[in-house]
Amino acid sequence: MYKRVLLKISGEVFMNDDGGPFDHAKYDKVAKTIAKFKKNNDVELAIVVGAGNIWRQRDNLDSGMDRVDSDKLGMLATNFNAKNLEHHLLQNDVDAQVMSAVYVDGISGYEVRWARTKLEDGGVVVLGGGTGNPYFTTDSAAALRAIELQCDVIMKATKVDGVYSDDPNKNPDAERYAELTFKRALDEQLQVMDMAAFSLCQENNMPILVFDFTDPENLEKVYKDHSLGTIVSSKAA
Ligand code: UDP
Repeated sequence: MYKRVLLKISGEVFMNDDGGPFDHAKYDKVAKTIAKFKKNNDVELAIVVGAGNIWRQRDNLDSGMDRVDSDKLGMLATNFNAKNLEHHLLQNDVDAQVMSAVYVDGISGYEVRWARTKLEDGGVVVLGGGTGNPYFTTDSAAALRAIELQCDVIMKATKVDGVYSDDPNKNPDAERYAELTFKRALDEQLQVMDMAAFSLCQENNMPILVFDFTDPENLEKVYKDHSLGTIVSSKAA
């Protein structure tokens, strides 16, 4: 069983069902799931949050904004989600702490040793600001932080229950893989994470467990039984 987990949550998880960018109930639902997950399992948890519910560079090309500025807005927006998630985690008795890769008044800066200590002490570290650099995504932040924080796995929360041989929405014969090697994922051009993130994981032997988070209860189920999702690692399947 993995001891230290980096959970990557995309921003759309926090979206309001009516299409609004966020919903307090969604932050709370995720926080309650994490509280239960921590309580039931001897696990250390760092979380990287995205911002697709608020601002994603590639969804805002029409703005005509300079790429660097647009990415900065995205990184800022991740902190909006991180701070809200921290609030709801604290409400659910989880010792949570946001640390940001970009400066935001009122939010602590990310510091690797402090983050590691917080994890060892049983706290949950919520990582905002992505990598702190434009031209990256929060998938890359997840890969980078998982490696820096010496995590054992990245659990990538998605809307599908793993990696398929083809798009399961278009091809009913698409097969879900329970296990994959980095090499096979590359050879078959399977979309696991964006290339920068994927390369970091492959080079540093960081396994990626892709799972369906539309039902947050899956977090614990998949943690206990990886075959419910897809585990991508350097080991031969
Ligand atoms: N972003 C960035 N650098 C990073 C991480 C994120 O510039 O290291 C920006 C980028 O514009 C991205 C946005 O923040 O589109 C939101 O992140 P992401 O798209 O990964 O969010 P998610 O899709 O996971 O919700």
